[in-house]
Amino acid sequence: MDALASFKKEISTPKKIFITTHVKPDADALGSSLGMANYLIKKGHEVSVVTPSDYPSFLNWMKGNDDVLDFSKPEHQEIATQKLEEADIIFCLDFSVLNRVNELGEMIRESKAYVVNIDHHQDPEDFADFEYSSTKAAATCELVYELIDELGDKDLIDKDIAECLYAGIMTDTGGFRHPNTTKNVHLVVAELIDLGANSSQIANWIYDSNSVNRLKFIGFAISRRLIVREDLHTAYFAISKKDLKKYQSQTGDTEGLVNYALSLDGIKLAALFSEREDGIKISFRSSSEVAVNKFAAKFFNGGGHKNASGGKSTLGLKETVERFESLVEENSESLFSEEAISAS
Ligand code: 5GP
Ligand code: MN
Repeated sequence: MDALASFKKEISTPKKIFITTHVKPDADALGSSLGMANYLIKKGHEVSVVTPSDYPSFLNWMKGNDDVLDFSKPEHQEIATQKLEEADIIFCLDFSVLNRVNELGEMIRESKAYVVNIDHHQDPEDFADFEYSSTKAAATCELVYELIDELGDKDLIDKDIAECLYAGIMTDTGGFRHPNTTKNVHLVVAELIDLGANSSQIANWIYDSNSVNRLKFIGFAISRRLIVREDLHTAYFAISKKDLKKYQSQTGDTEGLVNYALSLDGIKLAALFSEREDGIKISFRSSSEVAVNKFAAKFFNGGGHKNASGGKSTLGLKETVERFESLVEENSESLFSEEAISAS
């Protein structure tokens, strides 16, 4: 029996299903999880969605949001652990390595449940019984749509499911602008619109829900915390804990900030360093020719996609950005090929 047939058999009778996604879920992570959850509920399964952390409030319109358990909340941990222990099937969505779900990772590794991984990151770790993964996909939501279609269940995709999936594709393509915006992306979102997703409403929920504090924070970051190294084709933000506190920063408030650095003419590598409780969280973005995921993996204990990756640092903020600048300088030849530089 091939892998898809064995997966099909697994979900052919009602099961207890546990769905999780990566820490600090974005629209693709939460949209694929809730899109899949709503589909599996329609198929007659008992489904729990557990996130390893909280997520931005601009995602809380998704159907099923109110039932999501946040494993980082002490009051949710016991019930979430019980759901994981009871599960017949575990879905791991939008991540390829188990350390992206914090403590849940080792619990999943030890679980006897049938594990499914649906994802679009490179180099997936071998932890799943059924892997539905492609780096050609722009978003995990695109793969969830294709899997449901392949299972012959497109007619079960209703407005709620279509909205969840549309949101993930819209944000993981940067609003249909990144190089991953393929013909297939447009074909899939056309289907999702046909199935009930309202594109301008979803864009409004996600992109036009700023608080005044957030807008002021972005203004502050651009005017006071942006460093431009034109000689290195690089620009970055370094945001301290104090800055975040001053603007009463909420989860999701730094989302998208790194793109302002990349939007500068001639800049091919952009980064955002933000000082969190547990160290420095880093976001990397690059223009199409520059592969930033290898750089993130090699030097900052991270990874991701060619043009959008992340990582961490346990050094202080100042030391981290100094190290970053030196590493870009030392690796400029491999980061920026002759071709890339002459195009600038
Ligand atoms: P963001 O900068 O939006 O947090 O993340 C961009 C991309 O990089 C996402 O696909 C995300 O999954 C990936 N990513 C972010 N942080 C990490 C990390 O610490 N490790 C790995 N492996 N991937 C990351
Ligand atoms: Mn994704």
